[in-house]
Amino acid sequence: VAGTFARIFNRQAAESTDIAGAVDKLAKLSATYPDLQAAAALQAALLRAMYAAPAPVQPLDISAATAATRLAARTPLLHGVALPFREQDLRGLFLRLCASARKQSESHASAATVLEEAVRRGRLDLWALSHKLIGGAGSTLGAALDAQELPAALTMTLLRLALLPFLEQVAVQLAPLRAGQAWQQGYCPSCGAWPILAEQRGLDQFRYLRCGLCADSWEVDRIWCVFCHNRDHLQLGYVQVEGEEQKQRAATCDVCHGYLKLRSTLTPLSVPELLVEEVALVHLDLIALEKGYAPP
Ligand SMILES: [Zn+2]
Ligand SMILES: [Zn+2]
Repeated sequence: VAGTFARIFNRQAAESTDIAGAVDKLAKLSATYPDLQAAAALQAALLRAMYAAPAPVQPLDISAATAATRLAARTPLLHGVALPFREQDLRGLFLRLCASARKQSESHASAATVLEEAVRRGRLDLWALSHKLIGGAGSTLGAALDAQELPAALTMTLLRLALLPFLEQVAVQLAPLRAGQAWQQGYCPSCGAWPILAEQRGLDQFRYLRCGLCADSWEVDRIWCVFCHNRDHLQLGYVQVEGEEQKQRAATCDVCHGYLKLRSTLTPLSVPELLVEEVALVHLDLIALEKGYAPP
């Protein structure tokens, strides 16, 4: 097993510095916290698979007027829009992620094999699933996959990672359409997903939410629950580990019992860095869950 980890964490020649840096950080996490070893090695393998081939994206055709109308109606820009990349490219990336999970993780190997089979035989329609996910039907998909006897959690994890390299480029295209438009919602203005964390940027600690599906970011108020919009500071709190609260903690809400991880940064995190934080901040998830808070 040690050999497998060493191989995964070894630098590869043609890798971008972003990815190499993220893999290095995952290796350090794995060395410092033995509990995180398996999760860090799997994340490193998935990260490499995500960027092992280009993810070509077409220009998206949304006018400034359409974008303004949608945002004013609190509708994410990609709702109901045909995704501007090719189904076969998404499928190729998803299959690379399945293969990577199968090779890297004994605990996910059999589920990953089931998924590869399901995609190859047309039992799992990734294209339709992606449009439903971005169309706002994300919460119903788990039950639908269960009914098909497919491993729902792994499907959604790998689908999200397969979509990210495409959607992060789409979000960059959408940025000019969002400029100057207010968006005081907890869900993503581009794709509608919930944030995976908030960055507290710079010395002023302005709060920016980061989307887990397209990596977009948008600024929100600090004394505010992103899930239920509660502003009563007596009902808002934090969970944290003593000594690291300046760097990272989770904001909690006693009205909806949601929580959001917060990470102090000077500059926005890259997508590979966001994926590192997913592993690095897992202890905050555990503390929040233990105290009765839950993701939306
Ligand atoms: Zn998004
Ligand atoms: Zn709340």
